Amino acid sequence: MYKTDDYPFHLIPAPLLLWYRKNKRALPWRENPTPYRVWVSEIMLQQTRVEAAREYYLRFMRELPDVYALASCEEDRLMKLWEGLGYYSRARNLQKAARIVAEEYGGKFPENEKGLRALPGVGEYTAGAVLSIAFGKRAPAVDGNVLRVMSRLTADPSPVSDPAYKAYLSERLKEIYPPEGEGCSAFTQSLMELGALVCKPLSPDCPACPLRALCRAAERGEQGNFPVLPEKKQKRQEDIFVFLIRTPDGIAVRKRTSGVLKGMYEFPSLPASEKSPEQILSEWGMSAFTVGSSRKYTHIFTHIRWEMTAFPVRAPAAPFEIYPEGDIEAKISLPTAFRQCLNCLPEENGAGRGEPSAKSKRRAADRTEDETDEKRTKTKHADKEKEI
Ligand code: SF4
Repeated sequence: MYKTDDYPFHLIPAPLLLWYRKNKRALPWRENPTPYRVWVSEIMLQQTRVEAAREYYLRFMRELPDVYALASCEEDRLMKLWEGLGYYSRARNLQKAARIVAEEYGGKFPENEKGLRALPGVGEYTAGAVLSIAFGKRAPAVDGNVLRVMSRLTADPSPVSDPAYKAYLSERLKEIYPPEGEGCSAFTQSLMELGALVCKPLSPDCPACPLRALCRAAERGEQGNFPVLPEKKQKRQEDIFVFLIRTPDGIAVRKRTSGVLKGMYEFPSLPASEKSPEQILSEWGMSAFTVGSSRKYTHIFTHIRWEMTAFPVRAPAAPFEIYPEGDIEAKISLPTAFRQCLNCLPEENGAGRGEPSAKSKRRAADRTEDETDEKRTKTKHADKEKEI
């Protein structure tokens, strides 16, 4: 039994839908919302702000316009298309799911929760989003935005991370969904849109809110007390040495064979130790190298914080794959954790010294965005799979 059982949920849809139809943003995934397009957008939006996701989404749809194109895409090409979005296992799950849909369902997504949730990477939220937005079913999609809006409307002190609360909310919302059809699609998106545009985490614009008259938190002036969030857990810290090795032919990279970001390219790295960089490079069979001043930076994953020490190295050769720097930008899918190294140790001004170039600043902007998104993701989609 929740304290909000007496809340008039049934009064929500009418004013909210009216507001949504007037105020919704024009977003690429809202045009022609097929199950494939909705599904890809929802997986992308788990980790990226709407504005940042727009370009990634358009490029992805240009390159892989349907489930068959995704199912047959080369892995390296897929990783390149996903570069900058992070959470590469989501891209791999997308492809696994696309192959199942292509091979077992004749290219058509299952139209029910059980079938959708059996697909890799599809949780309760994603299934609800696809069912309601693409198929017009009465299926709530309760993400962080919806939890925040509902928690404030009802002034419910239940922690929004509590699965029982989420299940309760989902049931109550299901009761007030419009009849099957376009209204279901609009209702799911209207709740998300209100959270994104009006009932924002830090500064809800209550005077502009279509549900102001129904909002118990606003009535009490307690918007800041909701939603009730769980205490933050400390992230595990790992100290990493990373080597940006420049040779006359280009920069040394290799594929990671284990652990975090397995299968992705990296600049050669290893756990930090008492060994000197010179000792490590010698153990890699290198000689005639010079090591410049190191720089430090941090990269944050869902559960881990990497404290990176980056060493710029000049060497005549290196026992790794070598790519010209331009090719690394254009052809290699290099995770942000390592791309930051290029920003940290720009070539233009000598290894490890000087002001970052405009290109470097752009990389830094990418990094900040990724990290911000990563933090946002935790609250937006608490139900989704954890990964790094
Ligand atoms: S009135 Fe304010 S706090 Fe309440 S739902 Fe609307 S924006 Fe959020």
